[in-house]
Amino acid sequence: MAHYLVTCCRRVGLPLWLAVLLLPAISCRVPAPPALPPDPAPTSDLWSPPPVAGAEALPAAPRYAIDLVVDPLGAVVTGRQEVHYINAEEAVLDDLYLRLFPNTPGYGATMTVTQALLAGQPVTPVAELAGSALRLPLTPPLASGDALTLSLDFTVAVPLSDVIGYAQLSYIDGVMALANVYPLIPVYDDEGWNVELAPEYGDAVYADVAAYAVRVSAPPTMTLVASGACTAVEAGEWTCQAAPVREFALFLRADYRQLTRVVDGVAINSYYYPGHELGGQRALQVAVDALTTYSQLFGPYPYEELDVVETPTRAGGIEYPGLVVIAAQFYTAGDWLEWIVAHEVAHQWWYAVVGNDQVDEPWLDEALAQYSTLLYYEAVYGTDTAIAVLEEQFVRAHEELIARRVDMPVGLPVVAYGRELYGPVVYHKGPLYFQALRERVGDPTFFAILRAYYRRHTFRIATADSFLTTVKIVAGDAHTDLFEKWIAGVTGQ
Ligand SMILES: [Zn+2]
Repeated sequence: MAHYLVTCCRRVGLPLWLAVLLLPAISCRVPAPPALPPDPAPTSDLWSPPPVAGAEALPAAPRYAIDLVVDPLGAVVTGRQEVHYINAEEAVLDDLYLRLFPNTPGYGATMTVTQALLAGQPVTPVAELAGSALRLPLTPPLASGDALTLSLDFTVAVPLSDVIGYAQLSYIDGVMALANVYPLIPVYDDEGWNVELAPEYGDAVYADVAAYAVRVSAPPTMTLVASGACTAVEAGEWTCQAAPVREFALFLRADYRQLTRVVDGVAINSYYYPGHELGGQRALQVAVDALTTYSQLFGPYPYEELDVVETPTRAGGIEYPGLVVIAAQFYTAGDWLEWIVAHEVAHQWWYAVVGNDQVDEPWLDEALAQYSTLLYYEAVYGTDTAIAVLEEQFVRAHEELIARRVDMPVGLPVVAYGRELYGPVVYHKGPLYFQALRERVGDPTFFAILRAYYRRHTFRIATADSFLTTVKIVAGDAHTDLFEKWIAGVTGQ
């Protein structure tokens, strides 16, 4: 998940600059799962999570069992989680890290871990990066293939203001927006543990897929919307299962309205505020058309549900596994709702299923989600509209970068751009690489590349190198000259 968008523009059929937001990702490694050791005995009295659909396919994935008590009046969430973690790396791990995203400047909340247990024994975490990371020394170190069980108690003070970041974790307008409300294990790759203080703009989460079993307690008057599938077990108490997902996000509001359409076995739900019926209907229709288009072009949507949720986020929209949020302002005015919904739904393919390091290689999911949005317009409105979108959203944006003499390579980390240029370069220039590749190899090969990329990296992590490898496998040539021109270099200066 993560977030961002740019905006402004003129109207030439379609809006020009866009502000769209998103999520986190991972970096590339595709280790063979080690043999599964027996599960260690439970170390706490946490409820025993039932088997999670899909978890069997990834036996080495972390398994989270989380209890969350949501108190809107106090704007506090109290949590307890148990994580079964297998060292799926080749390296021996001396430490285990947890990301406490609420403590990052872009979230503006406060997460406090009140107790940490490893294999039932108390440990003293070391806080790093302004409290946004916890390092747990492992004694003895965890060998490749070995497992541990980690238990944490924590509280989160939820901000009541939207002045910080994207308000992805907030209690505003009656919406309890609870993204990254629990400690999350980051990706371990050739850089080691991926912990950093990401910029306030852009997506911050970079995680491997995991299996989640979450129990939520909240006032019974509230509607719960979350990643995965949730069931009300009694008034004010729900259980949710989500797998394989990179993170678990939940949102609650007292009076959400809901519309549902089932497409090819996938329940697509639109949740919106009372009085925003037209926006809620429009969001549902766009999500239906987008999911249908992307499933045909890229490969099947893997989850049973997709939730499209109106929230007060200050990003245009934000993607989470199985769920996207859309800013409330777009439900009642302007022309952005369609673009933002189509963009965020595309992230189910490019982020939720195919992971990438959203902090270091944001173009992999953002530029591709933008190009996918173009494909949505092409599928729904036809070639002429797609050409207009290409010109107005991407070609012209790139020309403006050149005219302003601020053109930059697309393939840089988020922090390299600054807030002003991140959107124009990554979101609006970036898609031109995919267009150039499509024009070079032709439609059948181009879409075979995207389908192969999706299939090869399903629930894994992609990198720029692995994308180029896929191009070479499918097209017989990586066409690195196009990559050098559009992603690694600058043009026209
Ligand atoms: Zn995006």
